[in-house]
Amino acid sequence: MSVIVLVEHTEGVIKKKSFEAVRYAADIAQKKGTTVSAVVLGTISDSEMEALGQYGAQKVLHVANERLNELNARAYTWALFTAVEKEDSKIIITLHDINGRAIAPRLAARLKAGLVAGALSYPDLDKGFVVKKTVFSGKAFAYINITSDIKIITLMPNTFALNKTEGKASVEKLDVAFTDKDFGVKVKEVNKIKGEVPLADAQLIVSGGRGMKGPENWGLIEDLAKKLGAATACSRPVADAHWRPHHEHVGQTGGTVRPDLYIAVGISGAIQHLAGVNGSKTIVVINKDPEAPFFKAANYGVVGDALEVLPRLTHAVEKFRQ
Ligand code: FAD
Repeated sequence: MSVIVLVEHTEGVIKKKSFEAVRYAADIAQKKGTTVSAVVLGTISDSEMEALGQYGAQKVLHVANERLNELNARAYTWALFTAVEKEDSKIIITLHDINGRAIAPRLAARLKAGLVAGALSYPDLDKGFVVKKTVFSGKAFAYINITSDIKIITLMPNTFALNKTEGKASVEKLDVAFTDKDFGVKVKEVNKIKGEVPLADAQLIVSGGRGMKGPENWGLIEDLAKKLGAATACSRPVADAHWRPHHEHVGQTGGTVRPDLYIAVGISGAIQHLAGVNGSKTIVVINKDPEAPFFKAANYGVVGDALEVLPRLTHAVEKFRQ
């Protein structure tokens, strides 16, 4: 009856946001008087998995199949399903990211489980199993009661503080009866983005929109990002125009980020853009139009021409860092 949590890693290094998911699962397990079993897929060392004990996992179920090193929704779902059956689990947690969004609905269908996607709260157990999430692109909150026997939550990353304690999880091998059909989708090539801060994990982001005028001005965004140790992002029209690669596009149809600081430069603040960034802790907007909607969502605003403001801001950060 343990709470199951899917843990992600990159080439054997567990992602920070997965520690958060394990801690979240552990807090729920504690309230339910049970334990946490983390499910880890692919090639990874025992010592890396044992460290999940520091975030509240008692046990790790490891499916050591190298064909699971890259996301394969069907095989991942089957592995998680096997873990749920083995543990007779009623609560399953994944992250609300590419992996979780691909797996959780499939698992829910297979288990006939209720699912809340993009949870922002712990389930309120006094009211049943009520979980908070945003709806209408972040314009409102919904409180959803999962009434099915088995409950699945995809947790919005960067929602809760990471609380580390002493502990070491035990690692068990989990055998899953895969067939070749489970690996019908094959990853042929992985293009790694070298030398950049990955957007999904970034605590600081400098993001540019159409107000940057063209790709030739992106050096100004990159200079500031470099000085801050930040990742770079962009609005959708910027990616559509091929000024920037599509993996940098944030918003309703792009990535969702929740950094400590999001600096939006020359971005109007359309609802579809805000949907991907309005969980940021602090938002700074630079826009030459004082009526730009983004200012309403901003903690700090600079009204001015981005091409003039950015070099001055970068210079100020440089001086501050010295
Ligand atoms: P614009 O709307 O053109 O705004 C440019 C801004 O730059 C303006 O506010 C202007 O005042 C300012 N500016 C101009 N020159 C300067 C200067 N020199 N210095 C400073 N400021 C300047 N958009 C997304 O971003 N992400 C999404 O995921 C997304 N999904 C969508 C899904 C759907 C179904 C639809 C219909 C739209 C979606 N959009 C998305 C598009 C969205 O509606 C907006 O059109 C888009 O976000 C606008 O991008 P922008 O702010 O860069 O450009």
